[in-house]
Amino acid sequence: MNKFENYCTKFVQNIGSKEGAVSPTIVSSASFAYESPETAEGIFNGSVKKPLYSRIGNPTTAKLESIMAEMDGGIGAVATSSGMGATTLAVMSLVSKGDEMISIGGLFGGTYSLFNETLNRFGIKTHFFDVDEFENIKNAINTTTKIIFLESVGNPNMRLPDIKRIADIAKEASVALIVDNTITPLSVSPLALGADIAVYSTTKIISGNSSALGGCAVFRAINENEDKFKSERYAFLAKFIKGAGKTALIPNAKKRVLRDFGMSANAHASYQTLLGLETLALRLPRIVKNIEIIAKELAKNGLHVNHPSIESHPHHQRYKQDFQYGCGTLLTIDMQTKERAYDFLRKTKLAMITANIGDSRTLALHMASTIYSDFDEKTRKFLGITEGLIRISIGLENPQDIIDDFLKAIK
Ligand SMILES: *Cc1c(COP(=O)(O)O)cnc(C)c1O
Repeated sequence: MNKFENYCTKFVQNIGSKEGAVSPTIVSSASFAYESPETAEGIFNGSVKKPLYSRIGNPTTAKLESIMAEMDGGIGAVATSSGMGATTLAVMSLVSKGDEMISIGGLFGGTYSLFNETLNRFGIKTHFFDVDEFENIKNAINTTTKIIFLESVGNPNMRLPDIKRIADIAKEASVALIVDNTITPLSVSPLALGADIAVYSTTKIISGNSSALGGCAVFRAINENEDKFKSERYAFLAKFIKGAGKTALIPNAKKRVLRDFGMSANAHASYQTLLGLETLALRLPRIVKNIEIIAKELAKNGLHVNHPSIESHPHHQRYKQDFQYGCGTLLTIDMQTKERAYDFLRKTKLAMITANIGDSRTLALHMASTIYSDFDEKTRKFLGITEGLIRISIGLENPQDIIDDFLKAIK
């Protein structure tokens, strides 16, 4: 069955309750009362499954987590206050001072500065590679390498990774693979392709209308027999595997990061995110269809459009083979100069100028002067940020309206 069709049933059936309030209940309480000291002890040691305190877990958020886990075929998930919170949670749960990471593709500005600057300050070093540097990636792995991090689609360079091949490299070397699947929920299933953790900014297409900041990390189960997480490289995990078995990555993330760093989701944002999830499987295929129509038409009119559905894109074959359900809501247009980019942004009547992506509405932003304004020339070049680059996130509009508006704005 078409993947999107399958999810339509799952999402609406699981998000609504068959008894009592149909819409998910917002439990906005920060703390929870325990009926007896014995219950309190049980909740703290994990033998009683009841809410402890909303920094560690909340019933509304738990509902979101269970649906995100099911969506990706994970054993569980931890929702966070933002997408950067989810990346920080997943990464910090596996690294310590002196460890190294490998980061492949994209890269989203916040993730790049987290790896290149912030984590560097704490003695964690990241090596950056393009998606097709397979040999260099292999050669960069050593005994201190704890994570290979990959974006499912380069934002904003639009390069597509061979996720399976990179997962095989990670498996061979027994190193954890984390995939940022923000741009391609449903379309790409990172855990099925061999990733260990999928991270999301749910702020984007999952909520879908700029109503809630949020993130989520989805974890795979630890295997009963051999598992890369049972090796010396991840010795700190042994006690969680002993206590929690196949779900060990979740208490590891909660006790080693969430509890102390506190990037916890709030119930209201989780509720908004659930409402977005309910229609995700309807909205996404519409946008994937729109984006192909728009990219083709704009390219035909002489614009420098970057999208893998266009035949001249270096990953067009990969797009057709591995990304049958599309590669998300983004395309970029290189207007060649900053002046022409600004001129376009002033004249478009339909694209909203904002730093967000994955909205019901079409959004646009000049990259070099905004998200990447802090970055030096060399880094911008590595990330594919040219002077005239505009990132567009296509929305639910009639695609012909967008095409007409853009062509008028370019004249
Ligand atoms: C937006 C985004 C993030 C960060 O998410 P926030 O919710 O804004 O913190 C991370 N990765 C990608 C690919 C994104 O687009």
